[in-house]
Amino acid sequence: GLQVSSQRMRNRRKEIACRSDIERLTPCFLSIYESLIPPDEEKEKQKQLLASLEKLVNKEWPGAQLFLYGSCANTFGVSNSDIDVCMTLDDAGTSKSDILLKLAEILESDNLQNVQALTRARVPIVKLMDPVTKISCDICINNVLALVNTKLLRDYAQIDVRLRQLAFIVKHWAKSRGVNETYHGTLSSYAYVLMCIHFLQSRRPAILPCLQGMKATYVVNIDSVDYAYFDRVEELHDFGAVNNESIGYLLWAFFDYWAYCHDYANDVISVRTAGIISKREKDWTRRIGNDRHLICIEDPFEVNHDLGRVVDKYSIKILREEFERAADVLQYDPNPSVKLFEPY
Ligand code: ATP
Ligand code: MG
Repeated sequence: GLQVSSQRMRNRRKEIACRSDIERLTPCFLSIYESLIPPDEEKEKQKQLLASLEKLVNKEWPGAQLFLYGSCANTFGVSNSDIDVCMTLDDAGTSKSDILLKLAEILESDNLQNVQALTRARVPIVKLMDPVTKISCDICINNVLALVNTKLLRDYAQIDVRLRQLAFIVKHWAKSRGVNETYHGTLSSYAYVLMCIHFLQSRRPAILPCLQGMKATYVVNIDSVDYAYFDRVEELHDFGAVNNESIGYLLWAFFDYWAYCHDYANDVISVRTAGIISKREKDWTRRIGNDRHLICIEDPFEVNHDLGRVVDKYSIKILREEFERAADVLQYDPNPSVKLFEPY
């Protein structure tokens, strides 16, 4: 395995893409990016739904608050996505399951549709659809860390627009090619965005800084653990300006990295440190339970959590073939902006 992949790397070195050729793709990918951005009305509708749901739950739990998280709040969401909502409340006595069942009952009696409590999921939720706006929504309970990692992603997005451009196109590619399904052993949208952040932190000169490596200006304490990082991102708006790589080239370089340069046998990518950590250091070298660590992406806050753990020996092959296909399409195909997103 190792020999084959280093051979592949060597072959590739000879024919590394010519930057000016690849940069010709930039206008085309920029217009795809623009077309994926959700219109302002959609954000407005989501906020209104959130407010009316909050009013409803406050009848049962006066102190409860609802927050958007995930792609509708981290600025990496495309049009017509489902929304992710987190309800926070002091639940000293009651179990999460009981709260979710009660919540489902309340929602159902208010005529929300397709209400379903999934109390046994890894993240237990209630699902619903609002018949007025047709927005589908998942509500989880007290998942405060998800709110913090949502803010981290949103803060990174504000530093350099190339992150949002790259992540939109990578997510669109992953959905089109069927490799954005944790259920089938491929990666979550959250994992892809972390891969994009890490990639832009690793450019030379760097396009993104390492917010968790800087002086903390934002600190939250959850279950007696502090989560902290520098969040005054408006002070960093020209951080990446010395690097003038455009989205066409970055997109190719992203796929080229995951196709031919990443060391799957030894390396863990880490946004927390803006670098690579060895699998050995994290003790992620062998399968433990269901965690196989075939592609390793460290969660920025739950550092024992590998977002690649859903990937198995079959899906790792599919993923790597898709990375190679994407890199090759961008480098050689006469019509890459169509071919890249071709349904699988
Ligand atoms: P989309 O719905 O557009 O595909 P998304 O950003 O909502 O994208 P998800 O991967 O469903 O994508 O993640 C939603 C949010 O849930 C993430 O932003 C993150 O806050 C949290 N999350 C998802 N997976 C994990 C995980 N494995 N560990 C920690 N938090 C996670
Ligand atoms: Mg989502």
